Amino acid sequence: MSKTLFEKICDREIPAEIVYEDELCVAFKDIHPQAPVHIQLVPRKPITMLSNAEPSDQSLLGHLLLTAPKIAAAQGYPDAFRLAVNNGAAVGQSVFHLHVHILAGRPFKWPPG
Ligand code: 5GP
Repeated sequence: MSKTLFEKICDREIPAEIVYEDELCVAFKDIHPQAPVHIQLVPRKPITMLSNAEPSDQSLLGHLLLTAPKIAAAQGYPDAFRLAVNNGAAVGQSVFHLHVHILAGRPFKWPPG
């Protein structure tokens, strides 16, 4: 199967401003930022979307949630950030490789639009 866009970024085949990486995940700045801080945190494993994750992905998903706050803190927002996961085209998912949006640096409304 061909690589996803985000796999190519993880593998440095497509340039991106990578801000964090470890053996399980990579985080890089969004190409069209919606906030002063807008980072994509992606597992190296190309899970298409959250609803396609499997029980065996439990520790990986936990790792993403535990890593996101560290990335937000490193960007200067240890206690004021929003995480978003779009699951499916109908709610705005455009890249079908699971990713956690990390957003910070401006006020956010609730509920999100
Ligand atoms: P989604 O709409 O799937 O939830 O989010 C995909 C995100 O990936 C969008 O915020 C979009 O701006 C970002 N994105 C799409 N293509 C690229 C790219 O080539 N490089 C980077 N850094 N971000 C991208």
